[in-house]
Amino acid sequence: MVKVVKFGGSSLASAEQFMKVGDIIRADKARRYVVPSAPGKRNSKDTKVTDMLYACYALAEEGKDFRVPLMKIKDRYDSIINGLQLKTSLDEEFKIISEMFKKKAGSDYAASRGEYLNGIIMADYLGYEFIDSATVIFFDENGNFDADKTDKVLSEKLANIENAVIPGFYGSLPDGTVHTFSRGGSDITGSIVAKASRASIYENWTDVSGCLVADPRIVPNPEPIRVITYRELRELSYMGASVLHEDAIFPVRKAGIPINIRNTNDPEAEGTMIVESTCQKPDFTITGIAGKKGFVAVNIDKDMMNAEVGFCRKALEAFEENGISIEHMPSGIDTMTVFVHQAEFEGKEQQVVSSLRRLAAPDVIDLEADLALIAVVGRGMKSARGTAGRIFSALAHANINVRMIDQGSSELNIIIGVSNDDFERAITAIYDIFVETRL
Ligand code: ASP
Repeated sequence: MVKVVKFGGSSLASAEQFMKVGDIIRADKARRYVVPSAPGKRNSKDTKVTDMLYACYALAEEGKDFRVPLMKIKDRYDSIINGLQLKTSLDEEFKIISEMFKKKAGSDYAASRGEYLNGIIMADYLGYEFIDSATVIFFDENGNFDADKTDKVLSEKLANIENAVIPGFYGSLPDGTVHTFSRGGSDITGSIVAKASRASIYENWTDVSGCLVADPRIVPNPEPIRVITYRELRELSYMGASVLHEDAIFPVRKAGIPINIRNTNDPEAEGTMIVESTCQKPDFTITGIAGKKGFVAVNIDKDMMNAEVGFCRKALEAFEENGISIEHMPSGIDTMTVFVHQAEFEGKEQQVVSSLRRLAAPDVIDLEADLALIAVVGRGMKSARGTAGRIFSALAHANINVRMIDQGSSELNIIIGVSNDDFERAITAIYDIFVETRL
């Protein structure tokens, strides 16, 4: 059995954290392939090594002296090495990095050194082989991940190696230069390694015990989610509940490998299992609640709208023309509403209104700002009667005015629009009605 384990930055921020990680890996022989992030924050005022690298490289690019900030980065690693009582020396590596910075090797190269160096330390600490990800993870000329080439090279490589450390976040372009995924991309590397090694599970170790039913900044001590499907997770992450880089799902999902989100600081906790499908009933009717503030509702009215062929297309074209993406679109008989992101819309408001007038000639256009959208997500809602009724009665009891309702045809989610000011209270009311009653 093979388990791939990825550790996030906070799990590897200091020698103490490294020791916890070492214990976790040694506790299970199946944990054969390890994907580390760069050292993260040791406390809330600290700076992630990746951010230090970007800042240091920015100086190099401007031709300024970057020696002091680069030494500070080296100090971070040296304190881990000393704390673990290792003999590893990064002196040569830092000489090379300094030379490469002078040659302006690029910000991707700079940022990737965070995981690269942490990988060297990790491999030494565990006695595992170190594999430079630039030799096994590939991108095409346009910087898109090359899944086929990577899977071929990486699976062949791993087939002959019992235990290895493969740093997260980067790979190489066809010309050999280092290229990174977007921020948080070590999650993707973990998923790629899990697929290539035909792992039975991808354990993603972080600093929370998995996904929670609601945001802990809004609901104190929310219940954890034990099992969630990829689709549910996608709905919740889209609405702001992020535990994992969005793109990390694809490689393992295709291969049918579950992801287990675990907590390095609480290794006994089971965490959350992310799976393709499950017959396990969720603990409550709903799996999770998430939401975002800052939407505008563009209400468009026109008599006999429903009889006019092509009206919706013309109205939507007004948004497309101005490069505005659309979030939701509930409609009535002679009215349709388009929800858009306030920040994106504000600067283009009048252009959109005039495009709408020209293209769709509606009777009334009415704009309503400062709205929030809340997604109530759950595979269990399909078979439960009265879910919507319970949501709306909870909101009514909390004195919250519902401005919009949209239920996806998959019955996996119900989206509710409320005013920004009611956002937190609405989430709490919905959480309470399902979770506090345990139904
Ligand atoms: N170290 C990189 C970042 O801070 C990648 C990662 O941690 O996943 O974004």
